Amino acid sequence: MGSVSEYFSSLGSGILSLLKGMKVTGKEFVTPKITECYPENRTEHKWPERFRAQLKFIYDGEGNHKCIACQNCERNCPNGTISIETKMVTTMQGTKKKKLVKYHYDLGSCTFCQLCVTSCPTGAIEFDNDFEQAVFTRSKLVKQLNYLPEKEEPEPTPEQLAQIEAERQAKIAEAKAKAAAAKAAQGGASNATPDKTEENK
Ligand code: SF4
Ligand code: SF4
Repeated sequence: MGSVSEYFSSLGSGILSLLKGMKVTGKEFVTPKITECYPENRTEHKWPERFRAQLKFIYDGEGNHKCIACQNCERNCPNGTISIETKMVTTMQGTKKKKLVKYHYDLGSCTFCQLCVTSCPTGAIEFDNDFEQAVFTRSKLVKQLNYLPEKEEPEPTPEQLAQIEAERQAKIAEAKAKAAAAKAAQGGASNATPDKTEENK
């Protein structure tokens, strides 16, 4: 008798388990599919904005970028993915500043940590979501991000430089003269002040 009740009990739990499984399967039948049919959906699929595929320069409509060649991104990259070539130029004020020549980015070694983007003081770089980057050789993964020709900065002529230098020297001489006069005035004042130790004698 006991074995008959055990038989029906295990049959009932088996049917219950089967129904539970069928419920899960049935639910999956009606759940919207999340599998992407790539590449068939290439044209209509919207990739998430936050997806990081590769680093790029931000150019405005006139072909200008905001990179000031400070090399913060290069220093902060943990993988040595960024390599920046710079040159020194003279500004119209006669001072020297670094200017970007080439900005190289090796997509093959990038871990998409975004430290470069967050450390950029001018917001010159960002990630885009163009993920189709398959190539046949690793060297092709090294990209020059400043792909447009770098615009030349106005530089002073030798005459303008000479004038800037003359003005600078004149300012230095004026400052020195002022400092010497102030020192002399201070010395005269201290000589004119009676010595209190002498007075007390
Ligand atoms: S995302 Fe990270 S690894 Fe990639 S270039 Fe920027 S700092 Fe380097
Ligand atoms: S991209 Fe930004 S952090 Fe990198 S060199 Fe240019 S200005 Fe500096």
